[in-house]
Amino acid sequence: MSDINGTEPTTTEEPPPVVDPEPDPDPDPGPSTEPPLQPEPYTFQPYMWYSATCACATNTCPNYNIVQEVPMMYSNNGTNVVIYCGVCSKRATILSAALLSPQPPEE
Ligand SMILES: [Zn+2]
Repeated sequence: MSDINGTEPTTTEEPPPVVDPEPDPDPDPGPSTEPPLQPEPYTFQPYMWYSATCACATNTCPNYNIVQEVPMMYSNNGTNVVIYCGVCSKRATILSAALLSPQPPEE
């Protein structure tokens, strides 16, 4: 006999990354001709919350290369850590990350 107990998980394990789309007060948009900022190599622990900084890597975006603080970011499985730009909705480059301590309470 199998031990199927008939219960199914009803919660998703991938809350979306929390990205604060707060506009940058810098009044000078400037031309976006510089190469995109490069991320630091960083190893995420899986299923943890981090704070991070990121920058949009889309050079047509007003937020291109503008470093933004991300107060809370979930690491998912630890390798699929993605932040999307709040302006152009494309993938942003994670520049740095720090494990939140303490971790926020689970809901
Ligand atoms: Zn963008």
